[in-house]
Amino acid sequence: AVKAGKRGSYEFYDRKMSEGLAERRQLEADLRRAIERGELELHYQPSIVLKTGEIAGFEALARWRHPERGNVPPSLFISIAEECGLIHAIGEWSLAEACHQATTWPEHLKIAVNLSPVQFSGPDLVGMVRGVLERTGLPAHRLELEITEQMLLDSGEATLAILRDLKALGLHVAMDDFGTGYSSLNYLRSFPFDRIKVDRSFVTGLGTGAQNAAIVRAVIDIARVLGMRTTAEGIETVDQQRVLALLGCDEVQGYLFSRPVPAAEAKALIGRWCAETQKAETMAA
Ligand code: C2E
Ligand code: MG
Ligand code: MG
Ligand code: MG
Repeated sequence: AVKAGKRGSYEFYDRKMSEGLAERRQLEADLRRAIERGELELHYQPSIVLKTGEIAGFEALARWRHPERGNVPPSLFISIAEECGLIHAIGEWSLAEACHQATTWPEHLKIAVNLSPVQFSGPDLVGMVRGVLERTGLPAHRLELEITEQMLLDSGEATLAILRDLKALGLHVAMDDFGTGYSSLNYLRSFPFDRIKVDRSFVTGLGTGAQNAAIVRAVIDIARVLGMRTTAEGIETVDQQRVLALLGCDEVQGYLFSRPVPAAEAKALIGRWCAETQKAETMAA
């Protein structure tokens, strides 16, 4: 199980895993109710353009505050939702909520939403996404869907066809957690991703050895040749930011800039951040 961390949720996770299946079933029932009662929430983490320091957009990340147990990490409740099929409801809800939020932001900001592999085997993913875009009025080009290569593992032509139909709506597709699977490079041949998100594990090691920097450099170079943009996730130190700037990474995300925050805080952050960038521009002029 996951090591006990600073946050109570991980200890909770540990305990749950040892208590086993019955607990998981209980959580499944709780999750079902949570959706009905609106206990799920989205938090938003900004993505920063390295060259300019401007906010490019936000990634929506699901949060569940259980009335008795406190925060349940998405690593746990998303996997439960995937097992029992609730992921379809959660996926549509989070997409709609995130797209709606984005319509209240300045128009140049994009919204990134994570898709579960299970959603690809469900009913009419493309129709669901098209419907959400129509209902919320968000222009498709402001939406980026993130998928992990795990999704592509057992994917045949059917998955690739769905991906192509999604892209045909005008939205963007990013490969999340790049480098953590077995065949990351292979998938770059099968599908024209718009963006590669370099996994946090490589970023974390950036300061501590030549290997990680070499790998990140290679990924960024490949992305450039293929015409894809790059985002590095999990930036926590200024040193990591400096190395990524040298390597030519396009965007960065991480606690160094902001943790994922509730919608209201994301709006406040947009206000503050834009004011500061404008001030910096005025002073530079
Ligand atoms: P992800 O899509 O790769 O999201 C990035 C994760 O890294 C988030 O964890 C975020 O809070 C965390 N993170 C961001 N910056 C830092 C940093 O500087 N340091 C560290 N240590 N962590 C950082 P989170 O929110 O716990 O989500 C975990 C995973 O759960 C996500 O990974 C994503 O795969 C999945 N997930 C979250 N929300 C959803 C959702 O609405 N739908 C689906 N299908 N999956 C979701
Ligand atoms: Mg993601
Ligand atoms: Mg990621
Ligand atoms: Mg990740």
